[in-house]
Amino acid sequence: MPVTLPALPYAADALEPHYSTENLQLHHGKHHAAYVNKLNELQPDASDANLEALVKTAVGGVFNQAAQIWNHTFFWHSMKPKGGDKPAGELAAAIDRDFGSHDNFRKEFISAGMAQFGSGWVWLVLADGKLKIVTTANADTPIKGSAKPIITADVWEHAYYPTYKNLRQKFLEVFLDNLVNWDFAAANYARK
Ligand code: MN
Repeated sequence: MPVTLPALPYAADALEPHYSTENLQLHHGKHHAAYVNKLNELQPDASDANLEALVKTAVGGVFNQAAQIWNHTFFWHSMKPKGGDKPAGELAAAIDRDFGSHDNFRKEFISAGMAQFGSGWVWLVLADGKLKIVTTANADTPIKGSAKPIITADVWEHAYYPTYKNLRQKFLEVFLDNLVNWDFAAANYARK
């Protein structure tokens, strides 16, 4: 079985007006799908079951395609309709402990996403028992190392241009204020 394009966890218009239907259809149906098609071409024995192992071991073009597939699936789940607000429970306490406050976390996540020059990703990860914000360039991903992703925002231009044009900062603000899926984040944190 080749790698398959996973269905979105919500309808293509479910994130309106914060993430346009056109943006989501292009991003999932064209960009994410292209990574899936290319990986199947480059690595005919790639499968949904061995995708994560492939991300951890592959290099070059196979790594780029496999990691982009994994990162995008994680990103779709990092958003939800009527998302945003603030996390609760253990994750909220850990954010306060490691960033001082939710507002400070928000500022640091946005400024890290803005500081990523060119294409990449901004992540909240758990590393050595602490929450940290990290960025990765191009297809690079924290699961290549030992950090555990909690949420991510895609800062490749294709991720936000149809909805926000060149305004990456606006996208990152809306991502945290209206889209981020703290239930998904809390479940990832609970598996620490
Ligand atoms: Mn993308």
